Amino acid sequence: MCLFCDIIEGKIPSSKVYENEKVLAFNDINPAAPVHVLVVPKKHFDDINDMASDPEGEIYMGEVIRAISEVAKIKGLENGFRTINNCGEDGGQTVKHVHFHVIGGLKLTEKMI
Ligand code: 5GP
Ligand code: ZN
Repeated sequence: MCLFCDIIEGKIPSSKVYENEKVLAFNDINPAAPVHVLVVPKKHFDDINDMASDPEGEIYMGEVIRAISEVAKIKGLENGFRTINNCGEDGGQTVKHVHFHVIGGLKLTEKMI
């Protein structure tokens, strides 16, 4: 069982921001900023490495990038935003379905890199 697959299938409710055939974007349940959206491919990939090794990974990654840009427009982030992917144990990934955090709505100052 995978939490985000259940959200994609509508078995668990979510607050949808954007959707197309290949991706779903929904509000994070525990937002770290005024805007905090998760963009997920509708096909299950465990993480970035799993996506990279799958023949369909590229197609879904392209859709993810377009969806991130759509989310930014929908949420009025014309001044910028931050996209984060946590991968694996050391990356702090808690949900094992690859996802991209889109965070904004304030001036982000903490800069790790
Ligand atoms: P990770 O730490 O894996 O990069 O991020 C997982 C994110 O999923 C967290 O920011 C957490 O708040 C969010 N999350 C966990 N469970 C749910 C849920 O049931 N619904 C929604 N919308 N977000 C969730
Ligand atoms: Zn999944």
